[in-house]
Amino acid sequence: MEYRRANECPRCGFVYTGFNRPKPANSTFAERFSASLREQRRHSGIFGRVRYVEAEHARPWQCRCGTWLQASPWSFGWVDVTGIAALGGLHAVLAANFGWARNGWVFATPIALWVGYRLTRQVSVAEVPAPASAEAASGRR
Ligand SMILES: [Zn+2]
Repeated sequence: MEYRRANECPRCGFVYTGFNRPKPANSTFAERFSASLREQRRHSGIFGRVRYVEAEHARPWQCRCGTWLQASPWSFGWVDVTGIAALGGLHAVLAANFGWARNGWVFATPIALWVGYRLTRQVSVAEVPAPASAEAASGRR
């Protein structure tokens, strides 16, 4: 078995992070935007929003080399819970001692950075068969 990192395309070795997936082919920004709005309407509330982002995350996409890839679902473990609890605790200590730390951003920004960092570390892609709709579309080429 050839060694590869979990976030690399198995065929061409392109390294994926959470943010550099190719956009669906043959679509304009407006089309993608309205499709995204349509799907978001099916989910409501803050947890609906999270589920939508998670569904997007697990949707297969086509690499520039033509391979269909799918990311494995997010998994958060004790390290995330501990990290967020530690940041929250640190903030409580700072807020008790310093006026500037009572600003909500001082609390939210490190947690957002931590969650973002964990998400980019969790990208793990696997090759999947092309979806039936994409098979039909590529037959035209
Ligand atoms: Zn590739």
